[in-house]
Amino acid sequence: THPDRYAVFGHPIKHSQSPRIHALFAAQTGQDLVYTAWDVAPERFESQVREFFGSGGRGINCTVPLKELAWRIADSRSERAERARAVNTLALRDDGSVFGDNTDGIGLLRDLRDNLGLHLVNAKILILGAGGATRGILAPLLAEQPARLVIANRTVATAETLAVEFGDLGPVEGCGFATLAGHRFDLILNATAASLSGELPPLPADILAPGGSCYDLAYASEPTPFVRWGREKHAVVNADGIGMLVEQAAEAFLLWRGVRPATRPVIEALEAERRTAI
Ligand code: NDP
Repeated sequence: THPDRYAVFGHPIKHSQSPRIHALFAAQTGQDLVYTAWDVAPERFESQVREFFGSGGRGINCTVPLKELAWRIADSRSERAERARAVNTLALRDDGSVFGDNTDGIGLLRDLRDNLGLHLVNAKILILGAGGATRGILAPLLAEQPARLVIANRTVATAETLAVEFGDLGPVEGCGFATLAGHRFDLILNATAASLSGELPPLPADILAPGGSCYDLAYASEPTPFVRWGREKHAVVNADGIGMLVEQAAEAFLLWRGVRPATRPVIEALEAERRTAI
């Protein structure tokens, strides 16, 4: 028998760590599968999904810029994907239908809370950016009952719209970067794509509360501009998104295979590889 086939679709996809992560999960849990990365432009997304599932593929992860499209083409969706209106995991059901899930939010939460030991209850949280990633993380973060959650975005209207959309779940506000002066936060999450182009969102110097922490959802082989900013501000916890990436992958693996892999050895393996790469 052939191993079951899985893939990550994205555009671009060259630097994806997902094939490596899922290979480590498969080895650890003794599952027989192959997982490959595909460069899929948005125009070709739906036909490529049909082709992959039509030729024996079992599951697909979707990344930038395909998550909203994946939400649209799924035949049914998990509650958390429905809320996010974005899908990062597709699974072929036995009846041939396509199920959509979003594991980004739970992935971030596991990393912040379980791996990094952060307490979000009563915390003042600032999220930079109001794109697909922010849509995925808002509900799980609000479920932790922070004292305050502010979304700051370059395009102010997008942040304001998100705040209204998720307002039933907790105290969430939307604004632009200029309005942040004079406010302080215990946790700042960078969910903008700025790091990918070597940029830093414009932040007031004293915005991180003493003892506060920083987290960049982006990750790279080198420290991102926001990780360097966090170091300068003496953030107590100062991490990038590699742990979130592994945690969201573990949740997708659980959906597909019915087994939850241990994430810590995989995060450690990726961090060790990164240290030798620098
Ligand atoms: P989107 O393209 O959906 O959203 C991009 C967001 O970044 C928008 O809010 C946009 O603002 C803002 N932005 C882009 N460039 C800049 C800039 N130069 N300065 C300030 N703001 C900027 O992307 P996603 O939400 O899908 O992804 C965001 C980040 O999160 C990426 O770096 C991605 O790699 C990372 N990510 C990591 C994951 C992980 O597992 N670690 C999972 C998912 C995402 P505007 O609305 O004004 O255009």
